[in-house]
Amino acid sequence: MPEAPDLEVVREFIEDRAVGARVERAEEVRPGVLRSLCGDMPSDAPGRELTGIERCGKFLTLRLSGDRRLVVNPMLAGAFQYCAPGDRRFKRTYFTITLSNGREIRYLDDRQMGRAYYLSENQLDQAPGLLEQGPDVLSGHSLDEFRERLRPFRGEIKGVITRGRVVAGVGNAYADEVLFEAGIYPFRKVKALNEDELKRLHRKLPEVIERAIEVLRERMGERMHVKLRDFLLVHNKGGSPCPRCGNTISQLTANRRITSYCRRCQPGMLLRN
Ligand SMILES: [Zn+2]
Repeated sequence: MPEAPDLEVVREFIEDRAVGARVERAEEVRPGVLRSLCGDMPSDAPGRELTGIERCGKFLTLRLSGDRRLVVNPMLAGAFQYCAPGDRRFKRTYFTITLSNGREIRYLDDRQMGRAYYLSENQLDQAPGLLEQGPDVLSGHSLDEFRERLRPFRGEIKGVITRGRVVAGVGNAYADEVLFEAGIYPFRKVKALNEDELKRLHRKLPEVIERAIEVLRERMGERMHVKLRDFLLVHNKGGSPCPRCGNTISQLTANRRITSYCRRCQPGMLLRN
């Protein structure tokens, strides 16, 4: 699942290379992902300039001149590709935007779970989930705000921080990384966290994401559709030694989601098996 680090590096990459270019052609290759709410993207977008690209949480928004936005929520399996228009298309390509700089932005999705909304600024509330997100993980929100936003939640900390209401942009993989670095057992109840743990969690959230962005920026290049996760410390590393204490990393799957953690560095009662 693309999370804040993946999307942020895609954002930077496209911003550096494509902002200022014009849309020459837009094509909906397969139905099921794109929703045009303001004109029909394939006929409406050509001629408009790509004026910016923004990320908020797990959404990426392309801004086009004349009050048009393409808001993309890649969900579990969506990915972007930046390539030459003549490059072979992956089977699961849903739409393409060909630019005047001789490159093409494509959206791929192995599961067709992602959504893209083509709309105008006053329709942003029609992109489900976009405006309901909490502050972005890199927005510099204060410890007080973090504490306040956690207050209504009673569940397990990992589930709460991946939901996007307290902090946006952290998904299943980076939640494991953040909780490992903060020394917090992923299934601790939010209400059971003490002040020190809250402070560590609040500090580690942007730290872990920033560090991942630096790694991805070095390694991703133009192959932005390839998911890079091999450098993570604990996520999906079940059975390997913990990089901090050498104990074996534990891993379990609940609701088809993997959770990896170190029992020694992240002590807590095992509430499920
Ligand atoms: Zn450990």
